[in-house]
Amino acid sequence: PLPVVAVVGRPNVGKSTLVNRILGRREAVVEEVPGVTRDRVAYDAVWRGRRFTVVDTGGWEQDARGIQAQVAAQAELAIEAADVVLFVVDATVGVTDTDEGVVRVLRRAGKPVVLAANKVDDQRWEAEAATLWSLGLGEPHPVSALHGRGSGDLLDAVLEAL
Ligand code: GDP
Ligand code: MG
Repeated sequence: PLPVVAVVGRPNVGKSTLVNRILGRREAVVEEVPGVTRDRVAYDAVWRGRRFTVVDTGGWEQDARGIQAQVAAQAELAIEAADVVLFVVDATVGVTDTDEGVVRVLRRAGKPVVLAANKVDDQRWEAEAATLWSLGLGEPHPVSALHGRGSGDLLDAVLEAL
């Protein structure tokens, strides 16, 4: 079986867009409306000749109810099944309470985490990305899932963690 990289984070941070960027094709569903990825969806990916499975997940809210609770359960299961967790934060919004909740789940899980500071479409957001060092999850990797900026460096970090 291939090593598994689970992409987690709250709704609308750009997880599915990042998965598509990793795949180099549009398979994961991207929506303006948060929480569209209901279930975990696994795809085969390759970077620098190394194959791995990338798992897209729905986001979750701390006070999850209904569908959000199911999404939360899926995401926690995805972390359990992952070899590496790719944790996505929206650098243009900064750290929210929901992100903090995710960080606590990640700490409990004890899996290797690669931190992606997404929506860094240009260098104006680099400083915001750097504030994510405060999460205590190591180096924040600035990336624009939408435009591809920084995605190679991010994938290199994922391979190093695998
Ligand atoms: P998910 O809910 O975490 O899977 O987020 P999506 O991938 O569905 O993206 C949510 C919204 O953020 C969509 O409107 C995306 O086009 C947008 N988005 C994703 N990545 C980026 C990015 O790097 N830059 C900008 N500006 N928007 C992005
Ligand atoms: Mg999604």
